[in-house]
Amino acid sequence: MKAAVVSSINPGKVEIVDREIPAIGPGQALVDVEYCGVCHTDLHVVKGDFGEVPGRVPGHEGIGIVKEIANDVTSLKVGDRVSIAWFYQGCGTCEYCLTGRETFCRSVKNAGFSVDGAMAQQCIVQADYAVKVPEGLDPAQASSITCAGVTCYKAIKVADIKPGQWIAIYGCGGLGNLAIQYAKHVFNAKVIAIDINDDKLELSKEVGADLVCNPLTDGDAGAWIQDKVGGAHAAVVTAVSKVAFNQAVNSVRAASKVVAVGLPPETMDLEIVKTVLDGIQIVGSLVGTRKDLEEAFQFGAEGKVVPIVETRCLHEVNDIFEEMEAGKINGRMVIDMHKHE
Ligand SMILES: [Zn+2]
Ligand SMILES: [Zn+2]
Repeated sequence: MKAAVVSSINPGKVEIVDREIPAIGPGQALVDVEYCGVCHTDLHVVKGDFGEVPGRVPGHEGIGIVKEIANDVTSLKVGDRVSIAWFYQGCGTCEYCLTGRETFCRSVKNAGFSVDGAMAQQCIVQADYAVKVPEGLDPAQASSITCAGVTCYKAIKVADIKPGQWIAIYGCGGLGNLAIQYAKHVFNAKVIAIDINDDKLELSKEVGADLVCNPLTDGDAGAWIQDKVGGAHAAVVTAVSKVAFNQAVNSVRAASKVVAVGLPPETMDLEIVKTVLDGIQIVGSLVGTRKDLEEAFQFGAEGKVVPIVETRCLHEVNDIFEEMEAGKINGRMVIDMHKHE
């Protein structure tokens, strides 16, 4: 099989290699990968930002068809369409796994980082952790929901937004445009989209944002939102920018939540007096559980959320990383394993 692997000689790059098709063990299934979206986290993995993993197959926005199952597998059958997600497997017995917070399992395995992921023609999944893709959901779009979509869906759940309330979405790229769609069309919130790129704000309006703010021309987003709507009832920050985190805290009403999703390698400034007097909660949110992903898929199948995807070839992964770093990507680049150009 063809696979992209983290290069041991070219830092921050992948190489396309021929590999043996992996053999399945107990509880596992072999999947013929159809699509794999390219996430910013893949770039972190390839660069070694979470630790060096030369030879690892990246990819955690995988969608494919089950080709073979181990004898003991009962949750999947051959022919099922399933996901290969960042939350690849939890221990199943710890306090987090047992209380609906399995993505925080301390013994978690992550596809494309601690185990081989989906940027290959075939991939192994843990059968009980592979979430089935519902009928009617386009598999290329499903790939984008497997990480970007479920991450946004979960973050908005964590934000506790109610119908008719204002939510501020900071960063309107691959995650943000999905966050806008889930907030607007699933949670029935009113959405303010914030980005420093006017193209991304145009896209935000098209997918459902009620108001858009570009801090480069509109000034501090926190002050702008307080002025326009009296403050947001919640904020979700997908932007990889400390400035966005700081503005988000200033954009919400008292007793509101700011949900952190983006991962800038910095610290945010937090005014303790404001945090206490306004009862602000700042909370991190990490991908989503299997149940969250099942729900996020279903809203995609119902057409409430339509990921914007563009299909590419496996040999273009390094090009996609460069485009990602240059901020050139609107929506999501998805590798089509059957495309050869
Ligand atoms: Zn991801
Ligand atoms: Zn666990």
